[in-house]
Amino acid sequence: MNQDCIFCKIIDGKITTQKLYEDDLFVVVKDISPKANVHCLAIPKEHYSKLADMSERQAVDLGKIFAKLPDVIANVLGLANGYRLIINQGEDAGQTVFHLHIHIVGGQKMDFIPA
Ligand code: 5GP
Ligand code: ZN
Repeated sequence: MNQDCIFCKIIDGKITTQKLYEDDLFVVVKDISPKANVHCLAIPKEHYSKLADMSERQAVDLGKIFAKLPDVIANVLGLANGYRLIINQGEDAGQTVFHLHIHIVGGQKMDFIPA
């Protein structure tokens, strides 16, 4: 728990936010400022800023989170026609919250094809 971190406060329930999904490793919430028809955030419960700061165990846990995400995305978010996952890392990418999180965007065709 980082006292100054907005996502830690969401995870701890200090800020009331509807959790669409929660288990021992992560929560899924709606993004407060959606950039797509569906825009949610998968947030690991442990606080670390970026992939570069992750411990080996946190990396294993992130793997488990990715393994679970397709099920949550299909059955909780209802995205049956594809989606995009984004992890912004640092200033150039536009990262604004320095608690690692995975954007889940979907519910529409995406016109920005970076790769
Ligand atoms: P980043 O730019 O760091 O990759 O993404 C941070 C995301 O968190 C942004 O899309 C922003 O809209 C979202 N966000 C910031 N504060 C809050 C909040 O208090 N609640 C929720 N649900 N999302 C937030
Ligand atoms: Zn945090």
